[in-house]
Amino acid sequence: MIILDEPLASITSVGIGGKCNKIYMPESEEELVSLLSSLEANGEEFKVIGNGTNLLFSDNFHPFSVISTRKIAKKMSKRGNFVTFSASASLFECYNFALKHSLSGFEKLAHIPGNIGGAIATGASCYGASIFDKLEKVTVYHNGKVKSLSKNNIEKGYHSSFFLQNDLKHPYVILSAKFLLDNCFQCKISQAYFDIASKRSLSQGQGKSYGCTFKNANGQSAGMLIDKCGLKGLKHGNAQISEKHGNFIINNGNATFDDFEFLIEKIQKSVKDNFNLDLVFDVEIVK
Ligand SMILES: Cc1cc2nc3c(=O)[nH]c(=O)nc-3n(C[C@H](O)[C@H](O)[C@H](O)COP(=O)(O)OP(=O)(O)OC[C@H]3O[C@@H](n4cnc5c(N)ncnc54)[C@H](O)[C@@H]3O)c2cc1C
Repeated sequence: MIILDEPLASITSVGIGGKCNKIYMPESEEELVSLLSSLEANGEEFKVIGNGTNLLFSDNFHPFSVISTRKIAKKMSKRGNFVTFSASASLFECYNFALKHSLSGFEKLAHIPGNIGGAIATGASCYGASIFDKLEKVTVYHNGKVKSLSKNNIEKGYHSSFFLQNDLKHPYVILSAKFLLDNCFQCKISQAYFDIASKRSLSQGQGKSYGCTFKNANGQSAGMLIDKCGLKGLKHGNAQISEKHGNFIINNGNATFDDFEFLIEKIQKSVKDNFNLDLVFDVEIVK
């Protein structure tokens, strides 16, 4: 097991976040389960994260431990059209596995930089496809037990799920998930993947970011509303609203939590003043 003595900035996509109690990086599912049970037995607080692409930690010290699943050995298996992926598998790796077996279901999601655990917890979706579309069941650790939850027992919403409950003592931790995929020609699967890759590269900002920062409001694109407020390119400290896509906030170097918070509040206020719409932040803030 790796124990990192670094700020959380080193394990989040945006590169922001202060230190926490300890950062644990288990390397197998067995190591993860035994770590969870010993932390619970000691009454310690902890948060399990995936690739850290949807989390904005403040620069303060966080008095709990963080368990990153990204180093856990990835297991991928197939039986008929059913595939099972460990929580640590990235959506791109799931796409590749499915493609190899001529199975469709991950080609639209593959560009989202999270892993299976993070994607299910956040209800990841993209270009009309959601991680829940093909989900059959999730294996979780909860309160000392490993058990299965069928798709019907998982509360889900747009970019949210029952797993985002933020219980730091006895959270539900996703260990693996089973999906039922569709047979498809490989050329069709990869064509859909590349179509979306080119749409995303044309429209999205580059650099350290969260992708889209706000949910769309009242059916209107958040990026378009921010653009109409004339905010594209605006900088504060080392954070900047992308010049390419108004809904991306980029860390240009050593941006701080305060730099990001300033731009988030500026955007929300401008959109409220100009359009009387409340933009909802689509990233989890941990202060
Ligand atoms: C460039 C870029 C583009 C993006 N594009 C999209 C997009 O098109 N669509 C989209 O939906 N999102 C997008 N995102 C956001 C993000 O990638 C997704 O929300 C992704 O699903 C988060 O996965 P993660 O592994 O990084 O989760 P993290 O950010 O590590 O965690 C997110 C939440 O999930 C919880 N969690 C993580 N793993 C587990 C687990 N094993 N068990 C229980 N809870 C867990 C964490 O505690 C946290 O609350 C984008 C982000 C970036 C940086």
